[in-house]
Amino acid sequence: MSTYFYYQERAKEWWLLTVEGRVVARAKTRPEIIRQSLRQDCPEALALAERWIQNYPQLSSRCWSATIIYARGHVCPNGGYGRYRVLSQKGERIYEVDARPQFRSCTCPDFGNAWTSRFGAPIINGRPLCKHILACLMDEHFAKKRGEQLPSSSLNSFEEAHDVDS
Ligand SMILES: [Zn+2]
Repeated sequence: MSTYFYYQERAKEWWLLTVEGRVVARAKTRPEIIRQSLRQDCPEALALAERWIQNYPQLSSRCWSATIIYARGHVCPNGGYGRYRVLSQKGERIYEVDARPQFRSCTCPDFGNAWTSRFGAPIINGRPLCKHILACLMDEHFAKKRGEQLPSSSLNSFEEAHDVDS
């Protein structure tokens, strides 16, 4: 991504900056500044996130974070079908993700909290969806669009299982 954003305390708004530090957009809310940033850097991820959120509003904040993780190139194959290493949004931690529908899991606290806290990752069709898993599913979605060969086990992911793409 050629831009980054942060909350400007004094102005009480989100600022989008180029790597050179030039402010290119401002917004009142986090989703709006992410939209602005994706419009510039990764419009296809923006379109996909908006479709997913329309179908699953409970995933909204995690979907926005996932687009940033994806657009920053933080999703890395980890050997094996549907396996990934995902660098956290701020790049401070690495989580192990299994994106195969039947094994869908992540080593992050949000995934672990899904069954024990109402603030944990929303459970969709029996498995929690955290932002790291969503970022991997996004990566798979675009790999598939580019015609890359994906293992059959990971093809039947979130979208096909839940009609998100229809
Ligand atoms: Zn996670």
